[in-house]
Amino acid sequence: MLRRLRFPVQASRGRRYPEASHPYRTEFQRDRDRLVHARAFRRLENKTQVFTPGLSDHFRNRLTHTIEVTQISRTVAVTLGLDEDLTEALALGHDIGHPPFAHAGEEELDRQMRRHGAMFEHNLHALRIVESFEQRYARFPGLNLTFEVREGIVKHSKDLPADEDSLLGEYLPGLRPPLEAQLIDLADEVAYNTADLDDAHSAGIIATEEIAAAVPRFAEIDDAIQTQFPGAAARVKFYEALRVLIDSLVSGLIEGTARAAAEAGVESPEAVREFPERLARFTPEAKRTSIELKRFLHAAVYHSPPLAAERERHAAMIGRLFEFYMRHPERLPESSYELAETQPVHQVVCDYIAGMTDGYFERTYLQAIG
Ligand code: MG
Repeated sequence: MLRRLRFPVQASRGRRYPEASHPYRTEFQRDRDRLVHARAFRRLENKTQVFTPGLSDHFRNRLTHTIEVTQISRTVAVTLGLDEDLTEALALGHDIGHPPFAHAGEEELDRQMRRHGAMFEHNLHALRIVESFEQRYARFPGLNLTFEVREGIVKHSKDLPADEDSLLGEYLPGLRPPLEAQLIDLADEVAYNTADLDDAHSAGIIATEEIAAAVPRFAEIDDAIQTQFPGAAARVKFYEALRVLIDSLVSGLIEGTARAAAEAGVESPEAVREFPERLARFTPEAKRTSIELKRFLHAAVYHSPPLAAERERHAAMIGRLFEFYMRHPERLPESSYELAETQPVHQVVCDYIAGMTDGYFERTYLQAIG
């Protein structure tokens, strides 16, 4: 469909440290494999997505969420004729910069960093992970990923302004990333909106009727399922409806992107970069549904009393551990403590905490603060 807009792997700007090519894997396939073998990738298993484990064995964690995003992204990329390997690498890496305890963790680290005139953002942290924290190669620091994968990590959820003059200046500020990177953010949205419905429904926080009342498209789907399978168990009917919902959002992303590209008259991957707006888009109908889902989840789930209480507790714990290490940097692990000779302490503390899994955080907190 959009084969003409596919980012050609031969056109990659390559790696920071040149390497010989591989006999049968493309550069983007190698990047995908490097991400899967990274320690930061394995830590996703013990990082909260939305629901902390305990109540159920079936909640998503950041690893299973990442797998869902990857499958959706690959379906979209392959149907549109884009580069599946670049898409897959970006989807697998899209959350590796997430700190423990999901958004509570990210917001609190950012709040702490701002007190020191700095900031925390998970995409930038992901870049630091793949550029330096992963130490797996004798000849260079980090994973030495291709330019396009690093660019996608920085830009998958937002573009860089044309006057960006930070360290990120090398990532083509003012230009859009390739379509393969643009679609990750929307695939992520499909994955988390529908997965959060599922997890909240199984946790008993929301009922099918409430979703139907807030999201007309879901009501329509649910009606059809009720007519088609009147005798099926309520839980199975919910899954049937959820599956149709995911399918309609993914189809909306494929169609919306194909349509936007056609209307823009964009004919090459270079023109994708230069076009003033992103071309990965939902159809207007799918976009409306996605917005309604988000609005509903915010009100009924993310800000529901049990989740709000958890979030506050976790944010307070992150804040306390951060302040503890600022007062006692000597209690940091030796490898981090050494870094504090050449970097501001708050940066070292932030990087150390951001890398933790939920479980490691809890153990460290208990030892440090009790
Ligand atoms: Mg995500």
